[in-house]
Amino acid sequence: MEQIHLIQELATEQVQKLHLILESNVYGKQFLQYADLIAYQIKSYDYDSVPWKDLVVGFIVTIYLWETYLDLRQHSLLKRNIIPQALAGVITKEKFAQSNAYNIDKSRFKIMYQGIYNIAQIIVAIQYDLFPICWDYADQFLKLASLPHSEILQSIVFASILISLNTVVNLPIQLYSNFVIEERHGFNKQTYGLFFSDTIKTFFLTLIIGMPVLAGFLAVIQWAGENFFFYIWLFMVAFQIFFMIIFPTFIQPLFNKYTPLEDGELKTKIDALASKLKFPLTKVYVVDGSKRSSHSNAYFYGFFNNKRIVLFDTLLQQSTHNEVIAVLAHELGHWYHNHVFRRLLVAQAHLFVLFYFFNFIVNLQSLYTSFGFSTRPIIVGFLLFQFIYSPVETLIGFFMNVLSRRDEFQADAFAKKLGHANDLKSGLIKLQIENLSNMNPDPLYSVWHHSHPPLVQRLAAL
Ligand SMILES: [Zn+2]
Repeated sequence: MEQIHLIQELATEQVQKLHLILESNVYGKQFLQYADLIAYQIKSYDYDSVPWKDLVVGFIVTIYLWETYLDLRQHSLLKRNIIPQALAGVITKEKFAQSNAYNIDKSRFKIMYQGIYNIAQIIVAIQYDLFPICWDYADQFLKLASLPHSEILQSIVFASILISLNTVVNLPIQLYSNFVIEERHGFNKQTYGLFFSDTIKTFFLTLIIGMPVLAGFLAVIQWAGENFFFYIWLFMVAFQIFFMIIFPTFIQPLFNKYTPLEDGELKTKIDALASKLKFPLTKVYVVDGSKRSSHSNAYFYGFFNNKRIVLFDTLLQQSTHNEVIAVLAHELGHWYHNHVFRRLLVAQAHLFVLFYFFNFIVNLQSLYTSFGFSTRPIIVGFLLFQFIYSPVETLIGFFMNVLSRRDEFQADAFAKKLGHANDLKSGLIKLQIENLSNMNPDPLYSVWHHSHPPLVQRLAAL
């Protein structure tokens, strides 16, 4: 407790210092005046007159229409079945047609069913006041179970109800994607048994990890009072670090088997690459990704001097050793250029802004009233806030994609500098062909959705 008090004092001190610095400067003074003016405008605004519910439904529909427009653009391009010039000699007509058929199938399902199903769900939930109904059920559950009445307990039951509903409602979509679409194109390797055991494991893990975090989240806000955003941000940063530690060590092994890569030519080459770059590699694992799907991948994880590399068994089956090394050289390019760390920092800054605005909106009774609540439970506030925040979130997602695509080019250039350009080219083409990824993306669709640049652009840059 004393330490928290200390942080609180430090934070106040820093804010005061910043204020003094700004006051001593002409522009700083002007900035403060504008900030005060905006704060005054915001405070004096009549929020009761804001039609919150209509606004949120409007946001949801706008984002849906925009993304469906992009889907339709992409769909019609796929149907034209044009091989991009850069791939003309590289991929056979049959393979290209096969990849297009897969992507057309996925895109048709998304436009005709998945998209409509998702937006219908959320609009029905909002229009029929499903959230206040679930909140009342949570209250009744506490009474039936003779549990003491507290906002935290009721929130836990409420969240559990929503998670259960969500899991059940999304089952048909997931089943159809895996067992019809993926199956039809030869990707699905999992049985119904594995699918349901995955779903049940994920459900219980979400509850076991999520509920203590939720309780902590609410407790911090209740404790911190008016300006909670700083403390809740610290709490979430701490939780994320904790989760990054337990995820690869305790959670992923519940779903897949990670076996150390056997000594041999590939292992020697990987070790040589790591020591050449001074990459602190401690272990190389092979994961049995083929248990679920024949899509393939490679990545690294770990803090500071304890990095591990994970290779999908599917990648090893599909590529030559030199191609695997080239793909790893690309991955290590992300490490060399600090992409992972920088992304983490951006995410934390984003989280800070998110909580700052949440702090602002959490006590607006008109928001709760418009969604059918007579009280102001914090968890409901956070849920409604996320609806309001969704346009900002969408734009941030877009900018993150822009940054990520830049990082991909930089990582490719890193591999090229190490002399792996040709192997990376053939490796990327193979991955793309084996995964039947979309090789001819619509430019607008790609700019909006893709975290990786289109293959043709990457090949051109290499
Ligand atoms: Zn990459």
